[in-house]
Amino acid sequence: MNDSQSIFKYTNEIIERYKTRNPFTLAALLDIKIDYKPYSILKGHYLKVADRKYIIINPNLNYQEQLIVCAHELGHALLHDDSEAHSLMALSLSNMDADQKEREANRFAVSLLVKPEKINKEICDLTDNEIEKIVLLNIQKVG
Ligand SMILES: [Zn+2]
Repeated sequence: MNDSQSIFKYTNEIIERYKTRNPFTLAALLDIKIDYKPYSILKGHYLKVADRKYIIINPNLNYQEQLIVCAHELGHALLHDDSEAHSLMALSLSNMDADQKEREANRFAVSLLVKPEKINKEICDLTDNEIEKIVLLNIQKVG
C-alpha cells in the first residue's frame, strides 16, 4: 500500500467500520496496546513483539501531539505489518523525507485526524510536502 489514494481509501474504511477518528479508541478496538515512556527525544514508537502490537507514546507531549503521534504510529501498525520497529524522532521535514514508510504513516495520520471539510482540497490530492506541513503545524501547536 503506497499510493496516497489507497491510503486515504483504507483510512476511510477504518473510520467507517469503527465509527471513530480517535487513534486511541481505534488502537483499543484493534487490540493494539498503548504504553507511555518519557523518552528524551523520541515522540513515539511502534513495535511488534510476538504478534502483539505496541504503540509507545511520550507522555510529555501535549494531548494534541499525542493524538498525532498515536495516529502516525497506528499508521505503521496497520500499513506496515512487519516486525520492524518504527520510531518517531524529532519531527522534521528532512527525516520524514528519508523514509517512504514515514510518509505513508503521516498520510494515514492526516487522513484519520483531519476532516475533509477542514481543508480546501481533497486529502488524497495533497502532496507529501503538504501532508508533512499539516503534521508539523499541528504537532507544534500548544494546548
Ligand atoms: Zn514513523
